[in-house]
Amino acid sequence: MYTKLIQDFLNRQDYINVIPRAALIDMDGTLYDSMPSHARAWQRMMAEVGIELPVEDFFRYEGRTGASTINILFRKAFGRDATEQEVKDLYRRKTELFAALDPVKPMPGAAEMLGFLEQIGIKRVLVTGSGQSSLLNRLNEDFPGAFALDMRVTSRDVTKGKPAPEPYFKGMELADVKPNECIVIDNAPLGVESGHASGAFTIGVTTGPIATEELKEAGADIVFPSMHDLADALPLLVYGLITTSRNYN
Ligand code: CA
Repeated sequence: MYTKLIQDFLNRQDYINVIPRAALIDMDGTLYDSMPSHARAWQRMMAEVGIELPVEDFFRYEGRTGASTINILFRKAFGRDATEQEVKDLYRRKTELFAALDPVKPMPGAAEMLGFLEQIGIKRVLVTGSGQSSLLNRLNEDFPGAFALDMRVTSRDVTKGKPAPEPYFKGMELADVKPNECIVIDNAPLGVESGHASGAFTIGVTTGPIATEELKEAGADIVFPSMHDLADALPLLVYGLITTSRNYN
């Protein structure tokens, strides 16, 4: 069913096949319906330092580390990077504002997706640009046993966050897999770009205001309109990946 797009992927990457042994999974907007709260907290925090932006803008920065987003906004507004102290203070303030909002809920469909991966023995690795403990600490409660502590890449583990491929490379390292032995699941253009650059089969999920086309342009090999749709399609997609090999024309 997915043969054509899988073959396109194999040809482009010059792989013979894809045997998924690990799934590298983003957190905010993928496992948690947390992006509206993050965007709101970012908007309020930046407004406090005099940078007024519409809330939608903050969806564009999704996936970046906090420091990277702060520096981009500082360069635009003040023509300079933020100091280390400013980054620390502002990220702490953003975290406070986020925590004051209504608690975020797990993304519908995420638990089913994780359950299927477990069932068929695909390792699950968290790859997030977040360093926010409020959600990281909830993972085990909301998705029991899904992400072992040594199967998590957070903002603390990388020097160059998404859209650079480093976070997903780190995830492959943790799972001890090659790029053609994993799939990436991410909801944001920068995250998809990172997954695509890492050479993994990259699945985009549009769980927010970002359009399907934008995730495709960022390099998604396939895009689903919700985590539910992905969870429903995953058995066939994984079967397609395992059974399709490169078609040399
Ligand atoms: Ca995300």
